[in-house]
Amino acid sequence: RSMSSVSIPPPECMLRPLEVPLRYLFGPGPSNVPPRVLAAGGRPIIGHLQPEMYEIMSDIKKGIQYAFQTENNMTISVSGSGHAAMECAVFNVVEPGESVLITVNGIWGERVAEIAERMGANVHRLLKAPGEYYTNKEIEQAIEKHKPVLFFLAHGESSAGLCHPVDGFGDICRKHNCLFLVDTVASLGAAPIFMDKQKIDILYTGSQKALNAPPGTAPISFNDRACNKMFNRKTKPVSYFFDMTHLSNYWGCDGSPTRAYHHTGPVSGFFALRESLAILAERGLEESWRKHKEVAAYLYKGLEDLGLKLFIPDKELRLPSVTTISIPEGYDWREMLTYIMKNHHMEMTGGLGPSVGMVMRIGLMGYNCEKTNADKALHALADALKNCKKSKP
Ligand code: PMP
Repeated sequence: RSMSSVSIPPPECMLRPLEVPLRYLFGPGPSNVPPRVLAAGGRPIIGHLQPEMYEIMSDIKKGIQYAFQTENNMTISVSGSGHAAMECAVFNVVEPGESVLITVNGIWGERVAEIAERMGANVHRLLKAPGEYYTNKEIEQAIEKHKPVLFFLAHGESSAGLCHPVDGFGDICRKHNCLFLVDTVASLGAAPIFMDKQKIDILYTGSQKALNAPPGTAPISFNDRACNKMFNRKTKPVSYFFDMTHLSNYWGCDGSPTRAYHHTGPVSGFFALRESLAILAERGLEESWRKHKEVAAYLYKGLEDLGLKLFIPDKELRLPSVTTISIPEGYDWREMLTYIMKNHHMEMTGGLGPSVGMVMRIGLMGYNCEKTNADKALHALADALKNCKKSKP
């Protein structure tokens, strides 16, 4: 047999058309993408290093600055999901051996801790049960003790359904010469965040939650303090792909008149992200925050009427985009979720990391954030409660 003949036939599955079900994405993300954003993602591809693309990237940068409430020049979108932004933040501002302090009150702090450990940082975890929060005093004491170069907090802790207060941490970090890194993947657009006013040094989010764009792009912004640290480091970041010296040039943030090829950005993903940021700008942040709060309150009431218990007792600390309920007694959460998917074509999820087996999660984000959708979710839950009870005779 000749070396040049095909020995592996075309796979059977590839000769069948793509099938994608229509679903209500009422979990913690991705959320449903509105037709306008889907259409933007379906526009013809252009070269990633063409002037038209630079203009779109410049629009995206302005859209992120608005969404983050920042004037930072170093504002880009990382090519990748939320995890890409997590690695981009840590890899660029931390050098091996340096101390970092990470709040771990759900899965996200633990993920950032592992990322930092992998690149050789000296990681200090502030461990709490999922959904618990930290006082400013606790943070200041830990910063005084560990002298970190970076402090991490998840604003929207989506595995626990907690929206963590941010005020005051920025001042503490400045006082102790530490950078303040905040994760808003699950909260941006749903709960207020003010990057500049809250003295956040590095902020990132994802595209697929309240922004309602497809997964795969991750806005991130660095202020001057963060730039000063990352552009004056002794060692190169462990990742070529996430190196901000290259990415800042690709995004036209380094003052250079020319852009060199670094990687091919997700062109369609950027079109969709631009459109989702445009929708947020048209609607306004205040209105988006108000709507999430209103629909969340409506959902809480409905859940309580069903006899369900909200996992975060304090209303003010609940994440408006992702609601966590304690798993009702006498039920198997997996069975309930499977039942809801099968009978209502609706995605909700269980816990994640330390909250697995503790909670079920309902997300109503951006485009999905409507009382009519809360009603649909409540109806599906009521049906599951009726039909999935374990102690059936
Ligand atoms: N941080 C938070 C708070 C999240 O909710 C998520 C996604 N569930 C991530 C980070 C990671 O994002 P991705 O799945 O897009 O990598």
